[in-house]
Amino acid sequence: MFPGPALSLKVRVSSGTLYVLGMTSIRISREFLPTTAYLLQFSSTGCSAGCRFCPQSARNSTSKRMLSRITWPVIELDKIAPGLRKFKRVCFQTVLKPGYLEESVRVVRKLSETGVPLSLAITPVERDVLMELRDAGVERLGVGLDAASKKVFNLMDKPFSWTTYLNFIREGVDVFGRRKVHVHLIVGLGERTEELVETMKLIKSIGASTALFAFTPVRGIRLNIRAPALAAYRRAQIMRFMVDENVDLRRLLVEPELMKKALLTSGCPGCNRPFYNERPSGPMYNYPSPELVERDWPIIIEDMRKVLLDASSSLQA
Ligand code: SF4
Repeated sequence: MFPGPALSLKVRVSSGTLYVLGMTSIRISREFLPTTAYLLQFSSTGCSAGCRFCPQSARNSTSKRMLSRITWPVIELDKIAPGLRKFKRVCFQTVLKPGYLEESVRVVRKLSETGVPLSLAITPVERDVLMELRDAGVERLGVGLDAASKKVFNLMDKPFSWTTYLNFIREGVDVFGRRKVHVHLIVGLGERTEELVETMKLIKSIGASTALFAFTPVRGIRLNIRAPALAAYRRAQIMRFMVDENVDLRRLLVEPELMKKALLTSGCPGCNRPFYNERPSGPMYNYPSPELVERDWPIIIEDMRKVLLDASSSLQA
């Protein structure tokens, strides 16, 4: 459907990805290295969607080099493609702009030549386009539902309706298979915990799973709220782990190894998103590596127990 001429393609690449590729001088210690290569579709004016929390939105007065806390320099895809074999996965995130689908198919075709499992994070498209993207090499789908309740969703100026997103998640599961669609949910946009859990259960019942993010305030976005409290985020991580991994709260209370797993970044296999929501100085919302969980475990364990006990008493109430 999209043959496309062989023009050179430019993409944005996260600075951590560039570091692993040996193409930047910033320094990152081993436990913080990205295990997935993160690529973002390039648009000098940003994305035409209006999402209030996103620095890529053209309606926010933010630098378009930013997505969440991270800078994303522009580079020719040909220059980085050979080095992508160093990663467990490649994730390509699209933006809305004229011609974005045709360009996405070309990028996907090029990326699939690397043989590395490929995730595509995209806004709702028709089923035949999804099938074309799958046939071009996409292995998993990321869907930025972002808001954990319909009410919050409607305040965020998302580009499609709540129902369109849910139908798209269903189509995605149909095309890519169960547990191969990862729905991004942002904690801290104003949702209640019960709504978050309900939406995670809905996502699971459709056959998809949840990838959790913490709301990250960035100067220039049209949303004047703070990052979520760490205890609220821990609660969300535990709930997600219980829902997606079918783990009982009682087991979590007695098995520290499971508690530690609940703290790791959730999403496609190999996706760890270091510094996406975290400052190097903390707090650590998502842990990008088991080594870092071990490092912090003596200081996290009490908080985790408290969150688990609170959750257990609210379930008994
Ligand atoms: S979970 Fe990670 S790899 Fe998967 S689509 Fe989302 S950001 Fe990309």
